[in-house]
Amino acid sequence: MMKFKSTRGSDRELTGAQAIIQGISEDKGLYVPTEIPALPFKIEDMIGKSYQEIAFKVIGAFFDDYTEEEMKYCIDGAYDEKFEAKEIAPIVKAGDAYFLELYHGKTAAFKDMALSILPYLLTTATKKEKEDKKICILTATSGDTGKAALEGFADVPGTEIIVFFPNQGVSQVQEQQMITQEGENTHVFAINGNFDDAQTGVKKIFNDDAFAEKLAKSGCKLSSANSINVGRLVPQVAYYVYSYIKLVEQGVIKNGEKMNIVVPTGNFGNILAGYYAKLMGIPVNKFICASNENKVLTDFINTGVYDIKREFYLTNSPSMDILISSNLERLLYHLSGGNGEEIKGLMENLDSQKSYEVSQKIKDGMADFYGGYADVDTTNRTIGEMYADHDYLMDTHTAVAYKVYEDYKEATGDETPTIIASTASAYKFAESVAKSIGLGEEENGFRYVEALAAKTGVRVPKGLKDLELREVRHTGVIDVDQMQATVENCVE
Ligand SMILES: *Cc1c(COP(=O)(O)O)cnc(C)c1O
Repeated sequence: MMKFKSTRGSDRELTGAQAIIQGISEDKGLYVPTEIPALPFKIEDMIGKSYQEIAFKVIGAFFDDYTEEEMKYCIDGAYDEKFEAKEIAPIVKAGDAYFLELYHGKTAAFKDMALSILPYLLTTATKKEKEDKKICILTATSGDTGKAALEGFADVPGTEIIVFFPNQGVSQVQEQQMITQEGENTHVFAINGNFDDAQTGVKKIFNDDAFAEKLAKSGCKLSSANSINVGRLVPQVAYYVYSYIKLVEQGVIKNGEKMNIVVPTGNFGNILAGYYAKLMGIPVNKFICASNENKVLTDFINTGVYDIKREFYLTNSPSMDILISSNLERLLYHLSGGNGEEIKGLMENLDSQKSYEVSQKIKDGMADFYGGYADVDTTNRTIGEMYADHDYLMDTHTAVAYKVYEDYKEATGDETPTIIASTASAYKFAESVAKSIGLGEEENGFRYVEALAAKTGVRVPKGLKDLELREVRHTGVIDVDQMQATVENCVE
């Protein structure tokens, strides 16, 4: 059976269900599979199969402690009419690339791909493990995870969901989506700080044993809906496998030929899922890691030094305004050959020195990755050019990815067919996108949505319609040092 263990050296091995409930390891590490499973099928046998059929097999290969019935229940509950695209993740060719549109779920960002299934995986896990405590999901969000987690967990019995987002650090549409969330078990707070502050605060709460004990006495157990939870990461592997099968099906590549994967990257979860797809057996040439001005990953890929002693920028791709990319820890663990002590040392350096340098072995392993970045002006220009030349609308994050891909192509001449992870609907970042395609000033974020729809005719996602009219239900603004007390209040 597949097992999961911590990236920081603890010997304890957990089943998938246990790792999903736990969220983060007690030694502060992240759970990784002890072995990456091989693809459980031949590509040629999957031609013509649906997203659900492919996801069932890919996710099932990692979480083989779930019975087929349990996994089918999870898949069927997650990938249904909630998605506005029948294919779940359509692939659209525009310009030089194939856009894997991951944003047709309820909240119009790719986080729905994993967060529609996580509540099913988690509640199934609690049944399997006979966990009788209420699961309290803590989530730090740079804008999109929060809403997707709220939608996924709203009114799910036996759960409480608490979301912290950076005050002033998300788009108006993103904020309105979160603060109007319905559901008896939902809690949303703006924190005075940025995403890294929120994520660090959440990790600190997780790592406080005394607090966990106190909560346990009142019948609660903490878990995470961030991509530090392996139940978030694994469902994302499915769409990279799916995209390869579809490119073969459409005759873009022959079975066995390679593709490139470009990912607009923040917490490194999405691109790591692509890497897992490669380890399973999907032929991938390069992983192109795209950042905005917060280009800590670009510098890391180019030098082997991860250094967060730098200015933090608020950009128009806020879901990537991150300096501490949590999931990189998992990649480093795999590239180190599973050396938990080494990873523990690096992460301690990050805490104390705000930087670390990896070994030559890890640097060599990073050869699969190309890093690049695009600033706000370049991103906006890229959106405008793509719309003018190819009539295709990209959101700001996807545009960062496309621009970095163009730079990559120019630098390398590589013509390998390329998938771009298209991570959000343009409407979530309507103001930037509208201005980038030449529209004028509007009064607020909602007017930009209307203007963009009127100009482009692109359908507004259901979840963003009438957003302005919804009742605001969450108004709390707190300091970082109030997070723990806030959690306590919510679960009482
Ligand atoms: C979360 C997010 C990203 C970054 O994904 P990671 O898995 O954190 O690297 C990029 N784009 C959008 C729109 C997102 O919501």
